[in-house]
Parts: sequence; structure tokens; C-alpha cells
Amino acid sequence: MMAGKRILMLEGGPEKTMLQAPPAVFTSRTCALSPATRRLLESFGAWQNIEDMRYQEVKRMQVWDSSSDSMIAFNHKDLSNDLAYIVENCIIQDAILKQLETIEDRVSVKYDCRVQAYRLPSVNPNSDSQHLAEVHLSNGERLQTRLLIGADGFKSLLRETAKIHTVNWDYDQLGVVATVEVAEEMENNVAWQRFLKTGPIALLPLSPKHSNLIWSTSTKNGRNLLQLPHDSFVDAINRAFWTEDDKNPVADYASKTFDSLLTGVGLDGSSSQQLPPAVVGIEMSTRGGFPLGLCHATHYVGNRIALIGDAAHRVHPLAGQGVNLGFGDVTCLAEKLSNAVSNGCDLGAIDHLMEYETERQRQNVPVMLTVDALSRMYGSSFTPIVLARTLGLQAVNALSPVKKFFMDNAAAAS
Ligand SMILES: Cc1cc2nc3c(=O)[nH]c(=O)nc-3n(C[C@H](O)[C@H](O)[C@H](O)COP(=O)(O)OP(=O)(O)OC[C@H]3O[C@@H](n4cnc5c(N)ncnc54)[C@H](O)[C@@H]3O)c2cc1C
Repeated sequence: MMAGKRILMLEGGPEKTMLQAPPAVFTSRTCALSPATRRLLESFGAWQNIEDMRYQEVKRMQVWDSSSDSMIAFNHKDLSNDLAYIVENCIIQDAILKQLETIEDRVSVKYDCRVQAYRLPSVNPNSDSQHLAEVHLSNGERLQTRLLIGADGFKSLLRETAKIHTVNWDYDQLGVVATVEVAEEMENNVAWQRFLKTGPIALLPLSPKHSNLIWSTSTKNGRNLLQLPHDSFVDAINRAFWTEDDKNPVADYASKTFDSLLTGVGLDGSSSQQLPPAVVGIEMSTRGGFPLGLCHATHYVGNRIALIGDAAHRVHPLAGQGVNLGFGDVTCLAEKLSNAVSNGCDLGAIDHLMEYETERQRQNVPVMLTVDALSRMYGSSFTPIVLARTLGLQAVNALSPVKKFFMDNAAAAS
């Protein structure tokens, strides 16, 4: 339906060409892509490019609490498909850009081309289609378009220019990332996440010998971690996965008692806990820190504009949902635009854009609230909260149908 339309993609940064695809060293910015995102990428050939480079399937996921021994494990057995796919961001981008090259008569990409300002029509395009949106570029050029799609990240200039109200807060946390080397070469397909008092630490599999670290911690601790010599950083990672210092004696006792109760009625609360691999090194120059925050745009659309990705919603990375929600926006917006074209409507008309907003907010807002609630609940050391989350986690782990419900929802998330 969109064959007659032309798309111009503006990127403020330089073109990033990989000297070698895939890069010799595993890069530390990765995303856990959901099966729904994989289906989207398959639909236009980008997944095949990822397969030709590299990715790692996640077959099992173990999440546990440092305040007690409570944990939840999701196995491949619980699902008919893989749980997620860990892919480096540069590989995702390269795979998509390769597909864009095959339709370069319709999609052009301009790099080093920052949008400096927008002039947005105040008139509803339904009533006067002559009012187009205007883009002012850093090179002095001015362009006009029927529809502007704001995919310009959580500091979106388009969102700001359109005066779209946001709800946002800063977690005062840094996401510290690195590519780490694990002790033994193994079938590395388990994602590990442990909730510490200061935030979750996660190891995501990349290859038999490598994993990706995403450690969300207080800004102060994060800055210290970034300064540590390599050996001390490796020690800090292992300590974070193994330390008993955070143990809450009340929650720990309740957890053990609850476990024997569950076992008594034939349910398995915590017996399948496994130990994460020890980290023995980190790849040079892969350590980095990223501030974490939440941002919710109360509207995703306006006259001739639609926001997608982090421009519309920014979430804590603890559930690996951020980019998946953005790809979900893409699927939904593409469908609405295609319908608009087939009905002979103006692409920037507000009616179908509103349908996009309603559908996506219905999907995204509950995910954002859940992720935020998890980050707050696990950030607390108040005993009743520690107790509630400990017993809740154990109960969900013991009840297979409830666990399957959670996993099916996570797999479909997009
Ligand atoms: C530590 C960490 C780990 C994460 N892990 C995961 C995970 O496992 N799974 C997951 O789903 N998500 C994860 N996320 C979230 C994910 O990275 C983001 O949701 C995703 O990158 C957002 O993509 P985006 O394209 O919307 O925005 P961005 O990646 O911010 O891209 C915005 C683009 O717009 C360009 N731009 C901005 N302003 C202008 C302008 N004025 N003119 C021209 N160009 C402009 C920028 O140069 C940039 O290229 C993680 C995030 C962090 C911080």
C-alpha cells in the first residue's frame, strides 16, 4: 500500500559502518528481542541478516532476590518458542539498514543531519490538507511533509515542539554495561537476573564464552564501578551475584517455611535454583554507563505527527521491554497508515493516528506501570514489602499456569 510513498529518514549522528560484520569483539549494547519483534524483523527480511551475523537464543531465565532465596525460573519447556533473543544493537541496526538499501528508490537516509526546529500546522489536516509540517535541518535545508514520525529518542525535540505533556522521572540509577567472559565454555542460553538492594544485575548470554552485563545500580555506585580497575570490576560482579549481605532474616525464614508448605501440597516453590556462571574477565573498552528513567507521553500523536519508540515511552531495562515496545509501535503504525492509504486518506490525518495512539497506549501503559512497580518493589528493604515479593515470587514459580500466563505475555510483548 505504501509503494507510492517516499520516506526520508533523518539521523543526527554519523553513519556507523561496521569494519567487520559481525564485529570481532562482542559489543556491550544489546537488546533482548521478543519473539513478536523477531516476527516483525522476519516480515521484511532483517531477521535473516541477523542470523547471518550473530545472536543468542534464551531458553531459560532465572530471576532471584538477594533478600531471600526466593526465585522464579522460566524454562523453554514452559513455552513452545524461545523466550528471547539477545542481539547487539549495532547488528540490529545493520540488519535493518541492509534491507532499506534494497528499497532505496522509496526510502532515503540522511546522516549527520540534525533537525533543528519544526514548524507544525495548527490546523487539523482533516479540515485543510494544504497545511504541511515543516522541518528545519542543521544544513539550512527546509522540508515539508504530510507526516512526521518522531523516532528521536527520550529527549524528543518533536514531542517538545508539539508541546505534548509527559510524565517522567529519573531513577537516579545508571545502567552499567559490559561484555564479560564467563569461566567455562558452555551451552550459554540462560538469562540471569538478581535483584539487589541497589537495583537488578543481569547476565545475558552472547556466546559459549561471553555474556552481556546490564547492572542497574545507584548513580553513585555506577560511577564507582565505571572507575574500577578491570580485576576489581570483575570481583564486584561476582560478589553482586553471590553476596549474602542483603539477606533479610524474616523473609528468608518465611521463604523456607513457605517452600516446605508448597512442597507439602505437591508444588515446587524453589527447588530448581541454579547457579550463574562465574565471570573471569571483561572485554576491553566495552564498559559504559547509561542514566535510567521513565517517560510517558500522554499523547503519541498530533496534527501530522506520530511518536514511536522512546520518544513516546521510556522504561527501566529490568524487563528488557524498551525496544520491543518501540517495534510494536512500528507494527501498529504501519498497519494504520496502510489502511489510511487504501481508504484514500491523507497520511497525516488525525483519525487513523488516533487509532494508533489508542491501540498502543492500551498495550504500552500497563507494561510501563508493571516495570516501574517491579523496580520500586525490589528497591525496597522494608520487611513487609520484602516478605510480600518473596512469597509472591515463590507462589508464581510454583503455579505453572500462572507462570505460563506471564511468559506468554512477555513473548507477545511488542
Ligand atoms: C542499559 C540499557 C539496556 C537496555 N536493554 C534493553 C533490552 O534488553 N531490551 C529492550 O527491548 N530494550 C532495552 N533497552 C532500551 C532500548 O535501548 C531503547 O528502548 C531503544 O534504544 C530506543 O530506541 P529509539 O530508536 O526509540 O531511540 P534512540 O535509540 O534513543 O534513538 C534516537 C535516534 O534519534 C536521533 N535523533 C535524536 N534527535 C535528533 C534530531 N533532532 N535530529 C536528527 N536525529 C535525531 C539520535 O541520533 C538517535 O539515533 C535498554 C536501554 C538501556 C539504557
